[in-house]
Amino acid sequence: MRKKIVAGNWKMNTTPAEGVELFKGVAALKGEVCPCVNFIVAPPFTHLSQIVEAAKGTSIAVAAQNCAAEAKGAYTGEVSAKMIASLGVEYVILGHSERREYYGETSATLNKKMEQAYANGLAPIYCVGEKLEDREAGKHFDIVRAQIEEVVFNLTAEQFAKLVVAYEPVWAIGTGKTATSDQAQEMHAFIRKVLAEKFGAAAAETVILYGGSAKPGNAPELFAKEDVDGGLIGGAALVAADFIAIGKSFPK
Ligand code: PEP
Repeated sequence: MRKKIVAGNWKMNTTPAEGVELFKGVAALKGEVCPCVNFIVAPPFTHLSQIVEAAKGTSIAVAAQNCAAEAKGAYTGEVSAKMIASLGVEYVILGHSERREYYGETSATLNKKMEQAYANGLAPIYCVGEKLEDREAGKHFDIVRAQIEEVVFNLTAEQFAKLVVAYEPVWAIGTGKTATSDQAQEMHAFIRKVLAEKFGAAAAETVILYGGSAKPGNAPELFAKEDVDGGLIGGAALVAADFIAIGKSFPK
């Protein structure tokens, strides 16, 4: 049985004090959700350490939203995987479409970031997904296959075992437009098939999250699909009750 994960990407939202309040709200409500659901929150760098502290004893894991491609040195403004891991952070989101789009992250950059993440014991949540024009041109499977082959295929079997994948159609992120549960299932099954071409039976265990305007209203239908193992949640992760409600959306 694959792990169920609900991960909240807070993006560039919340001050440290607001982030701690939000976290406390999530932690207070978490008891309402099956312990079989694993929660992860990804605050901004500025409050990672406070959230790691607040998370002690809650079984909620903490992720960073990014890490540097280099290990250390003259890279002004960057935050290394080692710095992040030293705080007690367990995961790092890599390849988010906003990073690919606004900060020019390519597969070459992401290979370096993946290497840094693994070298420092962080488990990557690797995001893939096509733009609207790709889907309309019928290229969505090719785009997602390339995002996987160019990065994930470079992992060792041991590294692959720790990877979480998030399918996030770019046209659904922050737009209020969700992929239908059938579109999500179709792509998740495809991703698992591509992963199996390289990693064989281990791909059956890979957690594949859906992201893109997921909310309490649509999560039950999405999570009911065989290959949808949870969600990477943006906007709805900023409201503790909504984030928790999404955690309750797995089929019984
Ligand atoms: C995201 O950015 O990972 C995301 C899924 O955002 P939203 O839920 O707001 O669409």
